[in-house]
Order: sequence, then C-alpha cells, then structure tokens
Amino acid sequence: MSERFDVVVVGSGAGGGVVAGELARKGRSVLLLEVGPHRTAADFTRWEAHAMHDIWWPIRMAMPSSDPSTGIVALVAGRCVGGSTTINTKVALRATQHEYDKWREASAPVNDRGEPLGPGDLDPYYERVAEVLGMRERTDWLENTRMVSRGFDAVGAHLEPVISYTDENCMKCGSCLQGCPTNAGKSTQNTYISVPWARGQLELRAECHVDRVLVEQGAGGLEARGVEYTDADGARHTVDAGAVVVAGGALNTPQILLRSGVPNPLIGRHLGLHPAMFVFGRFDEPQDAHRVYPITAHCMDFQRDEDGGFVVEAITVQDPIGFTVALCDENGPMWGRPLVDAARDYRHWIGLLLMVNDDNNASVTLDDEGREQFWTDFQPVEIERREKGARFCRDVLEAAGATRILWSSPATTHMQGGCRMGSDPATSVVDSHGESHEVRRLFAGDSSVIPRTLSANPSYTIMALATRLAEHLDADPHGYLQDQRAVVA
Ligand SMILES: Cc1cc2nc3c(=O)[nH]c(=O)nc-3n(C[C@H](O)[C@H](O)[C@H](O)COP(=O)(O)OP(=O)(O)OC[C@H]3O[C@@H](n4cnc5c(N)ncnc54)[C@H](O)[C@@H]3O)c2cc1C
Ligand code: SF4
Repeated sequence: MSERFDVVVVGSGAGGGVVAGELARKGRSVLLLEVGPHRTAADFTRWEAHAMHDIWWPIRMAMPSSDPSTGIVALVAGRCVGGSTTINTKVALRATQHEYDKWREASAPVNDRGEPLGPGDLDPYYERVAEVLGMRERTDWLENTRMVSRGFDAVGAHLEPVISYTDENCMKCGSCLQGCPTNAGKSTQNTYISVPWARGQLELRAECHVDRVLVEQGAGGLEARGVEYTDADGARHTVDAGAVVVAGGALNTPQILLRSGVPNPLIGRHLGLHPAMFVFGRFDEPQDAHRVYPITAHCMDFQRDEDGGFVVEAITVQDPIGFTVALCDENGPMWGRPLVDAARDYRHWIGLLLMVNDDNNASVTLDDEGREQFWTDFQPVEIERREKGARFCRDVLEAAGATRILWSSPATTHMQGGCRMGSDPATSVVDSHGESHEVRRLFAGDSSVIPRTLSANPSYTIMALATRLAEHLDADPHGYLQDQRAVVA
C-alpha cells in the first residue's frame, strides 16, 4: 500500500516552498518532493562553477521557432531545496494595476466574488510573505551605485533603492547566485521550509524527481490520486494524496502535466521569458562591482509598455565565468584577445541589468521521445523594446563616465506562464485558484500560472499567489483533504 499525505507538493521554490510551509504550519500532512539537493548556508561558497553544477539547472536554451535572427535565450534556474529563491537576488516587487489589467485581458482570473483579480485580493498575501521573509529598503549603496545614479540623473531618469528580502547580515559579498552564505538572503529553504522541517512538521525528500501525477477516472471525472517519483538511488515510488500541487517552475510544471496526460491543449503555451541582458561599462578606476549586494537599485521609469516596457537594475557584474561566458561586442560573441583583455579589466566593469516586457509568445513542448524543448517567437515590438532599453543603458553608463560598452547575449531568470490561470478553460490551464480545469485535486502553484509576464521581478507575486493557494487548500471547499490534520508538536 502506498503512503498517503493530505497534500504532495512538487518543487520547493518560490511557489512550492511557500505552499508546503504554509500548509505544514496549519497542521496539514505535507510531502515536499524536490529533484535538487538539500543545501544550506554552510554549503555555500563563492565557487561559481561548483554552484552552477550543484544547485543550478544546467543552462537550458530557448530556440527561435521561426525567425532565427531573433536569437537564443539562455534559461537560468535553481535546482535545489528553495529552488530559484536559493540563488536569486531577492528583489521584492508587487504586481501593479497595469499587470492585473493584462491578466484580465489574457485569461480573466477572478476572486471568490467573481470579480477580476486585483490588488485588494493579493495585498493580504503579500503582507503575509513580507512577515515571513522580512523586507527592507536597500539604501546602503556603495560609491559605484551612486556614480551610476548620477548617469541616470544626467539622462533625465531616476534610480531608486529596491525593497528586498535580505536582512542586516548581508555583507555585500555579491555571491547571491551561488547561495547566500550568511542566511541574510531569505530563500524558501531557510524560511518556509527549514522551520517546519526541523520541527518534524514537514516531510521533505530532496533528490527525488517527480515523473508524473497519477491521474485516474473518478466518479465526477478525472482526478489526481498522487504522484510517481524516482529517488536518488533510482527507485520508483508512488504516493497518494488528497491534492497534488505541481510547482516545478514555469519550465518544468508544463512538462509534468504533459507527462501526466492532462488533456488541455494550452499546457506549455503562453510562456513568458522576461528576457534580460547585461550592458557593461568600463570605467578608468576599479569599481569592484562584483563585491556589492547585487541589486540595490532599479529604474522603474519605463516599466509600462507604453513608457518603453523595460526595467533596469543596478549594479552588478557576475563572477568571472558568468561575466565572460556571454560577453558580446560589435562583432558578436567575444573570444580570443579582445575577450582576454576585457577579462583582465574585470575590476573596472559595471553592469546594468536590462529586463524587457515580453508578450508571452514562448512555449515549452516535449518531443516524440519526451525530451524538453523551449521555443521563442519574439515579435518586432518586443525586439524594439529590447533595443530601446539597451540604448538607454548605454547612454546612462556613458553619462556616468564609461569609456567602453559591452553587453551580454540574452538570458532570463524570470520565466513565467505555461499553465496560465483564468476563469475560462478556452484561454487557461488552471482556474483562478490554480486547480486544473480538467483534473480535480490537481493544482499548479508556481510561476507557471502567471497569465502575462510581470514587468518586474516575479518572486514576491509567486509567493503571494502560493500563500493564497495554501489558504484555499486548507479551507478545503471540496472535501479533498477530509479534514485529516496532522498532530503538530
Ligand atoms: C539568478 C536568479 C536571480 C533572480 N532574482 C530575482 C529577484 O531579485 N527577485 C525576484 O522576484 N525574482 C528573482 N528571480 C526569479 C525567481 O527566483 C523565480 O521567478 C521564482 O523562484 C520562480 O518560482 P517557482 O516556484 O516557479 O520556481 P523555482 O523557484 O525555480 O522552483 C521550482 C523547483 O521545482 C523543482 N523541480 C522541477 N521539476 C521537478 C520535478 N520533476 N520533480 C521535483 N522537483 C522539481 C526545481 O528543481 C526547483 O527547485 C531570480 C531567479 C534567478 C535564477
Ligand atoms: S550579497 Fe548579501 S544576500 Fe547576497 S549572498 Fe552576500 S550576504 Fe547573502
């Protein structure tokens, strides 16, 4: 006989970590399955290549589905307990009315009164996340950020401090992408998960790959019964649950639903990439932009599509591998002597990170043998936003005194969509609470449900939506969990 839990959660990042932690705190029996390893602050070092191997997904690529000149986008995500929150830079932004309007137009997610989802619906959940993670404004800029800020002023724009989920133990070491060694950076691993796990309230199984959700024909239609997963030793297991929450991230959740035979043709479609690129300026004096809290400031002046459709973050350069591996100049990707010369000047470069609104034209598919594929289909208006944003970054850096400009090839860390939520099965994969339109007891609880790409960093909104989902599951309006609460110490 297989084990049974109230809820099985697949993936422990911004979505899954919050759903699992909140439900465990409410006394529900929860199994949290994560394909990556369980690492904590004591394991994290600045060793870039090691972190990429140990706690990142191998870099995956989204390929152009039609016009090859629109370029390839590298996809970066965390694969460890805490998911991408373990390696992210912890900038916290709420969705704006502009985003809710886009969501309504795309798939019309609604609140419990049937009204379009809006700020009043998510604000209480944002507050709850802020209470768990702690948030503060990062006004502790170093001189390199202040200098770039003068460049923004000179071109008539405005650089402002970010709000982030980092505490005062942040030593501005710059190694957030390798995992925070001081626990100043709040991931779901060191907050939502670690506390109930240490108290024995949450069953966490790392290095377990969920192959599929077990979907069966029930009296009222298709139902999720549990999941099948493979552990680190290659052994297969099945687990039963009252509800299954898939939260493998926007690249993986669609794959899991496809492998499980969920019959919705929109799975994997409307993926948003929020593509990004670095624009680097070389300054005469050393800047040491790798030894900062990577994102202390951002310029939100062009956030809305009608204002330009991009956000710029300051300041950061990645460590040497990340800096050099994707460096480009007027001749394309750099190599040989020019690349060596740029790397020799490593301490002199300052990076601005440009993130561009996209129109959710990307997709995730599986080929005939079940292998993952990622596709882009950028339209001229999206390319134009990227070019406009890159020109702006160049102007800012030059106004601040940069004597040479380089840039990186496109990448993203903000994949969203692919199982969009909404009120109509014709335009969405899951309903406004994240439950599959076709399979009862099956929920998506991560970035995959976001109907249209947020114009800023998404994790705070993913965590707010996950908090809302945990509350919904615990209220159990359909009797899925049959009120079998765990005995909580
Ligand atoms: C380098 C970097 C910097 C970022 N900076 C910011 C920032 O400053 N602010 C911000 O708001 N956002 C930031 N983000 C984005 C943010 O972290 C993500 O949007 C968010 O974590 C996505 O949440 P998620 O739950 O959808 O996926 P994730 O957090 O990626 O979690 C998904 C988890 O599911 C696991 N998983 C996948 N498939 C399976 C399977 N089959 N079985 C078991 N487990 C599985 C994965 O290994 C992963 O741990 C950043 C991301 C990165 C990578
Ligand atoms: S910069 Fe701060 S938050 Fe980032 S890894 Fe270092 S101590 Fe942690």
